[in-house]
Amino acid sequence: MSASEIRIASLAEGVNPLAFEVGGSDLRLSADDELTLDRPLTVSLEIVRVEETLDIRGRIQGTGLVACSRCGMDAPLEIDLPFRLIGQERPETAPEDVESEDLVYHDGDSLELGETLREIVLVSVPMAPLCKEACKGLCPGCGVDLNLESCTCGERPADPRWNKLSELLDRDGER
Ligand SMILES: [Zn+2]
Ligand SMILES: [Zn+2]
Repeated sequence: MSASEIRIASLAEGVNPLAFEVGGSDLRLSADDELTLDRPLTVSLEIVRVEETLDIRGRIQGTGLVACSRCGMDAPLEIDLPFRLIGQERPETAPEDVESEDLVYHDGDSLELGETLREIVLVSVPMAPLCKEACKGLCPGCGVDLNLESCTCGERPADPRWNKLSELLDRDGER
């Protein structure tokens, strides 16, 4: 039984508060994912059960690590994501297209939330995370981290917006 598996029989009719922790392996995070966890995230749930239907209000909180898109260093990512799901017993013939984002199916015994939590967390990771707003990144010439040391290779920034400027500067220099 995984950390994110909820036993339906353990839920009373009415309101059930529930909390557990999920680590990187519970969320099947691999080196291909943009997020790593060195500490587990806390999941708190309030599940209202009416027969086999579960109205789930949840929140997943903690701190993950993402690689800075400029310098590659680990940067902390604060995670605090409220979510709401409806749990239903999987019908024998479940039309695929009925399964919406906030609808999760259980098999009458247990509801596995691992995959759903994985998606909630991963979509919250920004496209180009930064360790800090003013991160200088790596020198395109010698690869030094320009936040830590200044570069001596004399390489100009690779950003194409600078090319026009440096052409102009070069031309001035020749005069
Ligand atoms: Zn950075
Ligand atoms: Zn350099």
